[in-house]
Amino acid sequence: AKDEGGNTHYCYVPSLHANAEERRKLELSLRRAIGQNELELNFQPVVNARSETVVSFEALLRWNSEEHGFVSPAKFIPLAEDTRLIVPIGEWVLHEACREATRWPDDIKVAVNVSGEQLLEPMFANTVVRALADTGLAPHRLEVEVTESVFLRDGRTARQTLEEIMALGCSVALDDFGTGYSSLGYLRTLRFSTIKVDKSFVQGASQENQESLAIIRAVVAMARSLEMTTTAEGVEDADQAALIRELGCTKIQGFYFGRPMKAIEARSLVVKGRNS
Ligand code: C2E
Ligand code: CA
Ligand code: CA
Ligand code: CA
Repeated sequence: AKDEGGNTHYCYVPSLHANAEERRKLELSLRRAIGQNELELNFQPVVNARSETVVSFEALLRWNSEEHGFVSPAKFIPLAEDTRLIVPIGEWVLHEACREATRWPDDIKVAVNVSGEQLLEPMFANTVVRALADTGLAPHRLEVEVTESVFLRDGRTARQTLEEIMALGCSVALDDFGTGYSSLGYLRTLRFSTIKVDKSFVQGASQENQESLAIIRAVVAMARSLEMTTTAEGVEDADQAALIRELGCTKIQGFYFGRPMKAIEARSLVVKGRNS
């Protein structure tokens, strides 16, 4: 890797090797992460765009590894998906998230991210049933978040499983909308409760960037006519919040209203507010 000379072969192969080695180590650690108590859920508030009161929290996974320190989800989630470790990890997430939500007021939901690998697992709906039954959370308080990519590999199975989950009384949100490659056909037949407008559009939206504005406007209009709500992701300041409200998004999520926080902080946000 030292040789920066013309021969790319010498530069390329060793670094590939190092990456594979690092990846293998990371995978081994991730395999032990649940048992070692290294995984934790953070919760980020989602607010009603008009009243600015908390309507739900999104559960976001954090991994503080003994060997590797804090590892970003952008790194370990794809690894967990590639190795299918996301199946047991995702089951843990579902249980933890439901358990935590039972401590909140009844009108506050919990949103849980579910990867395609989990959704296509036979009996995934049973995993959801079990999480609800074990924790006692009412089904309507659980929202499952999926991205368009779940329809790419095996759209039929993904659709069937989502229908089963909806039949339980849970809601399903379409995450990162506008960033995927799949067709919009599934929007005709699946009753998503919410479309989450990806933060790239939200953060790009301004008077100087009419394109992002136009796209958000179109998504809001489409969601309305399909009787779905919209959540704008990645709202970081008051100007963005005002703009998003003007554009008619139903809900707002972003650092401006709250970062992902520890369970105990999220709890105090909604439990204290009601009692005082
Ligand atoms: P996501 O589902 O789109 O989650 C939202 C991400 O945006 C989170 O990143 C959150 O911290 C970040 N975010 C929220 N508000 C703002 C903001 O105002 N500005 C900016 N710049 N970012 C904001 P995070 O926690 O790093 O998670 C990254 C991704 O990892 C998630 O994206 C999701 O795809 C995946 N992920 C996280 N937890 C889980 C999980 O339990 N299961 C699965 N399957 N995937 C997960
Ligand atoms: Ca999400
Ligand atoms: Ca998202
Ligand atoms: Ca994402």
